[in-house]
Amino acid sequence: MIKNIAVIRGDGIGPEIVEQALRVLDKIAELYGHTFNYTDVDMGGCAIDKWGDPLPPEMLKKCVESDSVLLGAVGGNKWNDMPGYMRPEKGLLRLRAGMGVYSNNRPAKIWPQLANASPLKKSIVDKGIDFIIVRELIGGIYFGEHKTEDIDGKTTAIDVLTYNEEEIERIGRIGFETARKRGRKLCSVEKSNVLDSSRLWKKVMHRLAEEYPDVQLSDMLVDNCAMQIVKDPSQFDVVVTENMFGDILSDEASMITGSIGMIPSSSLGATACGLYEPIHGSAPDIAGKDVANPVGTILSAAMMLRFSFDMPKEADAIEKAVSAYLDAGYRTADIMSEGMTEVGCRQCCELIIHNLRKE
Ligand code: NAD
Repeated sequence: MIKNIAVIRGDGIGPEIVEQALRVLDKIAELYGHTFNYTDVDMGGCAIDKWGDPLPPEMLKKCVESDSVLLGAVGGNKWNDMPGYMRPEKGLLRLRAGMGVYSNNRPAKIWPQLANASPLKKSIVDKGIDFIIVRELIGGIYFGEHKTEDIDGKTTAIDVLTYNEEEIERIGRIGFETARKRGRKLCSVEKSNVLDSSRLWKKVMHRLAEEYPDVQLSDMLVDNCAMQIVKDPSQFDVVVTENMFGDILSDEASMITGSIGMIPSSSLGATACGLYEPIHGSAPDIAGKDVANPVGTILSAAMMLRFSFDMPKEADAIEKAVSAYLDAGYRTADIMSEGMTEVGCRQCCELIIHNLRKE
């Protein structure tokens, strides 16, 4: 198969981790007889420096016209004092909106080899952690009006949270469909005791549930969900929630599995063209030192093969190679523990490639 991939290396550790993922994709192409064509796209701080825009329109066009997009991370201190519309993160929000990817899917799964890296008690980890958070990505408060103005002599900031039933229904369907492919349990998370948008959310989820009688739907308030994720994460199979709640809960969920450097994500909309990226940021504190963990990005590439290119065997091969690398006792600095062998970013990738086999 021939696939065209738009590659956003971004800022900080972005270029070094993306490079490793491309090396793994090249090996997959060689083993399975595929051709992956890469088109570089500037986005984030590097695009501000080069083009004066965190995502120039022609760069967005390259992404929309690709078969999928692989992203490292954007942002850094250098651009922190820029006005809102010129921040690197604005490029990311515009990319998600421009690609129409309304569903962000983040697995929270513990690798048995890394059970010790979880900050949770062993008795909790031993019950198992394996769930997915399906987060609405292009609506809600992040996309509402933001303004700061003088009201009655006081500086007042306003952020508007809006959801319509169509936006809720399309993400709800992704939640139900995902649950159908897993343990058939869907937990809808909202704040319906306070927010109108959450009351509508809950109503739409229950209306949809009638179409999915094989999926068990439950409701949970977001504050309770934050507690339950650390108290008993084994209770969750699929969690579906709105943009800001999902942003916060998915970071919490990633933390309990060990390192944020290990976790991939996919963002999908109505077409097969998806956006794939690790869940962490650009980690400026470790950029350029060859110590970043590239596994989250490598597993994001595996998700791209599985969900956008219909290449499940190739995706399995990458996941097995990561598992074999961990089994052999190698660890990057972020997940290093006693008795293991510490490796850098490039060497980690080389060891994963060494373990790649055609199934
Ligand atoms: P971060 O995720 O970049 O870093 C948090 C901590 O985790 C740091 O100590 C970092 O060294 C470590 N870390 C992150 N990824 C790692 C990896 N692969 N291997 C080893 N250690 C890793 O979060 P932050 O420090 O809050 O943000 C830094 C910048 O990234 C900011 O400009 C922020 O806006 C941006 N950011 C971008 C994205 C994105 O591009 N999707 C997401 C989050 C944050």
